[in-house]
Amino acid sequence: MAFYPWEKRAAVPQDSLPEVSRPLNIIRPVPKLSPYFSLLFCTLFLSGCLPKGDATDPRVILISIDGLRADIFLDPTANGFTENDLPSLRRMASEGAHIKEVTTVFPSHTFPAHTSMVTGRLPFEHGISHNHLFDPARNFEPWYWWADSLKVPTVFHLAQEKGLITASTPWPVSVSGPFDYNIPEIEPMSGQTLSTLDLVRRHDRPSKLIEYFAFFGGLSSSAESTHGFQRDLNLHHIFKTIFRKTLPHLTGYHIIQTDDVQHKHGRHHESVKEAFVFADSLIGSVMAMISDLNQWPATTLIVTGDHGHVDHHTDIRLNALFEQEGLLTIQDGGITEWDAVAHPAGGSAFIRLKNPTDATVREKVVSIFEDVPWGTLLAAKKVPPALNGYGETDFVLLAEAGYNFPGELVQPFVFQHSGGGHGGDPRNPQLKTTLFAVGRGIEKGTVVDSSHTTQTAALIANLLDLPLDSQQPAPPVLEQSFLTASKRE
Ligand SMILES: [Zn+2]
Repeated sequence: MAFYPWEKRAAVPQDSLPEVSRPLNIIRPVPKLSPYFSLLFCTLFLSGCLPKGDATDPRVILISIDGLRADIFLDPTANGFTENDLPSLRRMASEGAHIKEVTTVFPSHTFPAHTSMVTGRLPFEHGISHNHLFDPARNFEPWYWWADSLKVPTVFHLAQEKGLITASTPWPVSVSGPFDYNIPEIEPMSGQTLSTLDLVRRHDRPSKLIEYFAFFGGLSSSAESTHGFQRDLNLHHIFKTIFRKTLPHLTGYHIIQTDDVQHKHGRHHESVKEAFVFADSLIGSVMAMISDLNQWPATTLIVTGDHGHVDHHTDIRLNALFEQEGLLTIQDGGITEWDAVAHPAGGSAFIRLKNPTDATVREKVVSIFEDVPWGTLLAAKKVPPALNGYGETDFVLLAEAGYNFPGELVQPFVFQHSGGGHGGDPRNPQLKTTLFAVGRGIEKGTVVDSSHTTQTAALIANLLDLPLDSQQPAPPVLEQSFLTASKRE
């Protein structure tokens, strides 16, 4: 093992991972995918060919806990938690800053929100207006995986242009993105024979980076390796290893299981608490690592979410309804012809007409939604500023409480199905997220009532002195001395 110094350095310190209530077996026999590439990567690294940050450089770690709800901290008891649960996030609040409520964007979807977090812009401005591309023929299944859909630079672009080292471990909309170290967020489409790991291997940077982790521990091509708690734990191992070894100046790191369990079980369930306790333990592990590396003087840790969650009891399959009304045709799981089609987003949907000037179709769409108890239709021109996000559409449909708009095309269009979701009006308190920040530049003990997801980009830009083009100011969590020093520079 003398050839592989990462093996030792990447080990998770035993004292840094608090106990979790579910057995998590990350260490197990590993399939040897391509030892040649692992050796090549290690050789490149050891020879200094791969970039590494200087220990004294300012750096930011941005961690998104998907579906991190503000109300868990505003009213722990009502949400099944105690004041002592989630100790790592509470420690961040006491040693740093806490923004109680962060309003997300519309639609309150994962990819639009993450992209606003790193651009300071609304979805229609940055180009990621939905999780899924507008692609009726494939029933909107393709995701915005690719960074070339971005219309404006992210803080990762700006950091890289400044010569800083960036990492995604992983981050939404990151395939071919501006990352020196990139474990991209990507999954296969239904029917695709490639596994998630195959796709990551195709798009990682440096090429074959993932081979190192496949070779040394915890990763295989099986779904087990890339789903659930095991996925988050594997990604945690990857994040920590890359951070320890290369000290990036800006890292985006996405924890996902907290969202999956809320979709499945709704807001209040033992599994939801378990997932947040688990995510909190990962944050504790990151904080322990920063201490271990003596990196707090140079490092700012920001932990936030992309949206909250609301419960529903009934799905409304809008395009199945439109088929019933003769507005579109469904064939082989896709929408082949349409006069009007819905781009569903859980708590909302965007209804587009093939010909926006076709008054007959427009009137028919309006009449369908006139008296339904499960949705409110707004003509695009009457959408209030808070719901300005998707961009070009003819109508915005908001789900009423208890209802959800999924992508399924099959009848019945009204389907009893309970769970959690998001995508709706971001002014709904249940959809608000929160933010914790600690470390370099953060005023200890700061409590801020509210901010907006777009302001997080300005916070990162201030911390790393990046020329972000955004109208949104950073939330007031920075140390006065830091602000004064920044101005002097
Ligand atoms: Zn999300």
